[in-house]
Amino acid sequence: MASSTLLTALVGIAVSLLVSYLVWAYFDTLALFLFVPFVPFLFRSRRSSVPVRRCPVCGFRTANPEFTHCPRDGTELRPDRSE
Ligand SMILES: [Zn+2]
Repeated sequence: MASSTLLTALVGIAVSLLVSYLVWAYFDTLALFLFVPFVPFLFRSRRSSVPVRRCPVCGFRTANPEFTHCPRDGTELRPDRSE
């Protein structure tokens, strides 16, 4: 029985190969084959990512959705894209 991570990776590779083949067929370039190894990482990071928000003033970070403002200085938290 395959794990869901392995299944996701296999599906990602299959889809990226298909897309790469289609692009290659249409545009006659192999550029997208370079994209293939990264697809499982994209799937993994999207699935496991918790929306972390960060205070732009003091750097307070939280994944708790109940926090909309920084408890230290009251600044509105912004999505943290540093990861
Ligand atoms: Zn703050």
